Amino acid sequence: MEYTYPEYYKKFQCIAEKCENTCCAGWGIAIDDKTLEKYRNCKGSFGNRLHNSINWKEQSFEQTDKCCAFLNEQNLCDIYSEVGKDMLCKTCKRYPRHIEEFENLREVSLSLSCPEVARIILGRKKKTKFLTSFQETKEEEYEEFNFFLFTKLQEIRDFLMEVVQNAQMSLEYRMSFLVAVSHDIQTRISKGKLYEIDDLLERYRQENFQRQAEKKFAEYSGCPVESYEAKKQIYKNLYELEVLDENWTKRLKAYEELLYKEGEEAYQKSRQEFRNYYKAQEYQYTQILVYFLFGYFGGAVYDENAYDKVRFAVVNTLLIQEMDIALWISNGKKMDFGGQVDLVHRFAREMEHSDPNLEEMEVMIGYQEEYSLENLLYCIWN
Ligand code: SF4
Repeated sequence: MEYTYPEYYKKFQCIAEKCENTCCAGWGIAIDDKTLEKYRNCKGSFGNRLHNSINWKEQSFEQTDKCCAFLNEQNLCDIYSEVGKDMLCKTCKRYPRHIEEFENLREVSLSLSCPEVARIILGRKKKTKFLTSFQETKEEEYEEFNFFLFTKLQEIRDFLMEVVQNAQMSLEYRMSFLVAVSHDIQTRISKGKLYEIDDLLERYRQENFQRQAEKKFAEYSGCPVESYEAKKQIYKNLYELEVLDENWTKRLKAYEELLYKEGEEAYQKSRQEFRNYYKAQEYQYTQILVYFLFGYFGGAVYDENAYDKVRFAVVNTLLIQEMDIALWISNGKKMDFGGQVDLVHRFAREMEHSDPNLEEMEVMIGYQEEYSLENLLYCIWN
């Protein structure tokens, strides 16, 4: 089996009781069948506690005040300390590691929803590379796995990663390039013309093509009204999502007021001021784009929708940028790294750790006008 993972992967270490937002609270933790069986057979007083603190119907740990029943006062896990690491369920053993499965390849990432991971990712100023390792395991056959499409998707993603991490180009240009190019590529995927992709990638690499794209994108800047309406709607759509942390809605509302209450002109003024203020930290948005591209793009092999995976990455980055503006305003036009880690990991929790939310986003991005190519280009440039 081949494994691909970001080069920072091994840097992660759980900070346990020092964690400011432990993963043992705020969401239900599903227990896999094998572990559930182990818990069922566990004897003694801890066995009794296990039996009483599991919701057997839902296959999850019971919660007290939104915290897992096994999280103790020191913010540590009682299962881990009483009966050992091997008794943890799959979710607890793995988190924040996340694995995407593709026939004989596993793509392993660290979830941005963990504050310690957010610190690692947002703190990276250099390009993120991806490493590969092999492990002897039984070959796995996936019925209907489109290996040719997967190979093309890997080539496309490598190219997009190159573009997105090219700091010579502006963030606006890179984001625009991602959505425009993936829109173009999607038409080939949808028509089954995968054989045209190599030539397309070759064309996108040419300087002439990039110069023309730059000119085309420039037409989208200076259209503040169009972008303002689309952005407001994209932000409002967040209220359609399931809420994991009850404080999240409060935060959304407060930020919405700060961003849009004073109207379009005031919004543009704040946005511009913030962009200048935060220029030196723009690499954080690059890392966020890389994170979402790595985590989701490969999944297009299952639904043949590469364009929506790219839009998901860009929309999330724009939303984080939008919330950053509000955070900066609320902090008296100041922003620190701790505040950014706090915002980004909470955003990832809400967005990524709810299957209904991921499905809802997919539907909205796929069908609603505010996520069209044109509207996204307006949003990126204004
Ligand atoms: S959120 Fe991350 S750092 Fe915090 S307890 Fe969980 S794994 Fe550890």
